[in-house]
This record gives sequence, structure tokens and C-alpha cells, in this order.
Amino acid sequence: MKYVSTRGGMAPLPFCETVLMGLAPDGGLLLPERYPQIDRATLEAWRGLSYAELAFEIIRLFADDIPAQDLKGIVERAYRAETFGSEAITPIKRLHDGLVILELSNGPTLAFKDMAMQFLGQLFEYVLDKRGETLNILGATSGDTGSAAEYAMRGKRGIHVFMLSPDGKMSAFQRAQMYSLQDENIHNIAIQGMFDDCQDIVKAVQNDHAFKARHKIGTVNSINWARVVAQVVYYFHGYFRATDSNDQPVSFCVPSGNFGNVCAGHVARQMGLPIDRLIVATNENDVLDEFFRTGRYAPRGSERTYVTSSPSMDISKASNFERFVFDLMGRDGETVKRLWAEVDAGGGFQLDAETMSRVREQFGFVSGRSAHADRLATIRQVDAEDGVVVDTHTADGIKVARALRRPGETIVCLETALPAKFAETIREALDRDPPRPAGFERLESLPQRVVTLPADAGQVKALIEKTLA
Ligand SMILES: *Cc1c(COP(=O)(O)O)cnc(C)c1O
Repeated sequence: MKYVSTRGGMAPLPFCETVLMGLAPDGGLLLPERYPQIDRATLEAWRGLSYAELAFEIIRLFADDIPAQDLKGIVERAYRAETFGSEAITPIKRLHDGLVILELSNGPTLAFKDMAMQFLGQLFEYVLDKRGETLNILGATSGDTGSAAEYAMRGKRGIHVFMLSPDGKMSAFQRAQMYSLQDENIHNIAIQGMFDDCQDIVKAVQNDHAFKARHKIGTVNSINWARVVAQVVYYFHGYFRATDSNDQPVSFCVPSGNFGNVCAGHVARQMGLPIDRLIVATNENDVLDEFFRTGRYAPRGSERTYVTSSPSMDISKASNFERFVFDLMGRDGETVKRLWAEVDAGGGFQLDAETMSRVREQFGFVSGRSAHADRLATIRQVDAEDGVVVDTHTADGIKVARALRRPGETIVCLETALPAKFAETIREALDRDPPRPAGFERLESLPQRVVTLPADAGQVKALIEKTLA
């Protein structure tokens, strides 16, 4: 299997060559040349597999340059019951009205990002080991991604993580989760500024090509293809858990921001998993909902991106969306290049009605939006009717799924985080604290390890230099 760029300007590369790449050299995103097709007999054979076995079968189709035994080891280390709290790894629960919740948040940082990041940690270690290389990951986080990356990379050979976070802007729980890590290869840097300042510093360091090359600086951002492919696995796993036979179509509802999660659903559907609809749920930052309703994709700047109570979806530029548009446009890199020239110039694009009907009919996409009041009402409703406390992002998904559900439609709502991470809004909704999973009781009282710096790329570079010396 070879990988190409969504903008058409890259010679095809094998999987392992793409693992440590961010963007393709032409600025596009990487995608496989074609999607492997899963026939009925194979689906039948996969139904009874464990999570790690299923991950092996699916990922090997995309990563055929990793020897089978090696890949088996990677997925077995990534998807262990001890890491994810149960043999099922991603169990389901059913609400009284038949809505299915696929639990993706039982990993070390209590958000679905662990599902891909645990795999990435093992994969990076493997690839670096093979090549005799090292990697220094520099990232910016407002919460979930940074902690998932740190927990996946902690203690890994050949890898250091430098994670910038806005000083004092994350919840006490999120801070404690990251800063309490004592591993020598994990470096937390609190920046005196906002998340955007952190991101600007990462960009500034990335643009210092000499520094970047000298210190082998890389990223783990959400456009990484290996993250998408790891997420494809739980669509299959969730489908098998939610159905009795492979004749039953199922729809998935996905709380979305960067379009990474639902992009994996799109890939699963293209592979032949019987997915009926892919329902994209947004919060008040509804750039994606606007696209699916009107055909207009117009990313917004930070001045028009709101801080909401489902903060991990406060995104107004869906970085993975380009992958879907590439498929939608018949995989024509020139067209994607033209459309993203508009986007990168600060504008957007409008697709015509015929194309948008294919978005719905051929690709199964629909969307909906949920706002703070919906979120609170849904958290209350699910607690009262089912005795389940859901987090704010999952609540957005449930709200949209219920609004769009057709008679007889089975909808699997992806749970993207546990409520313990967003206690403030849970208290607002339920007037009590969310449940805390075992092992997290005393998180905030653990010793913390963090360096605070002003919002200055030079000082961050100096710290990296000193640490690696
Ligand atoms: C990252 C995240 C999302 C959004 O996922 P995308 O892949 O960016 O669409 C939703 N909910 C939670 C809790 C997240 O951490």
C-alpha cells in the first residue's frame, strides 16, 4: 500500500515512510492510494476477534511494510486490558431508547485520543528503533491531545516530548494529569499566554529549519495518518458490538472538531463496513455543520472561535476535512489544491448542489449542532432516564443523534471523553461532581513537574537545547 498527497504533488510512499511526516511536501495530507475492500466473508471472520486482533487485521492492510509479527507486537502492546480498563477495550452501553454509546474514553487520559495515541507511541518507538533515529516531539495543547501524547510517549526509547500549554488556562484536572508525569522524557512547559500563543511558538520553531533538523523536531498532530488508521478499528469493533449480524446497517454520530474521528468513520465506510449515515455533531463552533447544511466551507479565525463547555471541539478549521474533500472530488489533487488555495488565503469555498447531494447520498454525511443549553439538558436527561453521566462532548453527539434519528435507525454515539474531565459543567448540569474512575481520586494532590516560560519562541528553543544537551 502506497500513500499519496491530497494535493497530488508527491510520489507515492510506503506506510513507514509517512509515519514521521506531518504534511506532505506539497502541503497536502497523506491518504492511501485506495481503500482496501472488505468482503462479507472477511467481515464474518472478523466479528469474533478481540480488539487487538481486529486492530492487527485492519492496520496490516494499510501498513503492509511492517512484518506481521512486528505489527502484532505493536498492537498487542497498544491495546491491553490494563491500559483500557477491560478486555473489550471499547465496550458499548445502550440507552433506554436504543441509542448505543461506544466507550472510547477508558484509556489513561479519559478521552478517545488515547485510542490512536497509544498505537502511535508503540509505532514511533518501533520505527525509530528500526532506523536508529531519535525524535523530539514539540506540541501545543489546550488539554486532551497533549496529555494523550504524553501518556503514549512516556518512557519510550528515543523520544522526548516538549508540550506547551497555556499557563493557568486548563482545568485543575487537566493540569494535574499532564504535570504529574515524572518521566524523564516528558517536558511540560506552561506558557504565559493563550493556546494560540503556544501554537505560534510551535510554528516559529517549525519554521526554523536549521533548529528543526538539528534537534529532530516532529509533531503528533491530528493530521497524522497513523492516528486516523488506528481510529478506523473502533468503527468496526463498535459495529460488531452493536449488531447481531453483518446485514444490519448502523449509523455513527461523532462529536467533531478537527474531523479526524469522523474521517476514520468515512474510511471504514469506504472499506465496506455497513455504515448507513455518518452524523457530524458540532458545538457552537459550527463550521462543519455549516458545510454539511449549505456546501460552504469557511474556516474562521480565533476571533470568531468561541470558548465553550465542550472545549475540545472549539475548532474552526477542520484540519482533516481535506481528506474527505479529496475523495468527494474524485481524488483529483488539482481541484483540492485550488480549493485550499482559497482556504489558505483566509477565504473558503462553496460546493454546488449536485456535489452536496453526493455528500449525503453517496457518502452518507449529515450534521447537526448543539449549544450549551442543549448540552446541559442532554446531560440531565441521560442521567435521569438512564443513570449515566456523559461528558459535554458526548452530550453534543447524543443531542444531535436524537434530533436526526430516523424510525428504526441504530445510531452508535461515540463517547469522546469521560465527565470527570469536565467537572465544572457537570456540576452546573447535575449539581454534583461527576464520578471519578479508580486511580484518579488523588490526581490533583500529586507532585507536579512543569517549567513556566514567557510566550517567547527563543526561550522555548533554549530550553529544548539545554534539555537535549
Ligand atoms: C479531540 C476531541 C474531539 C474532536 O475530535 P476530532 O477528531 O478533532 O473531530 C471531540 N471530543 C473530545 C473530547 C476530544 O478530545
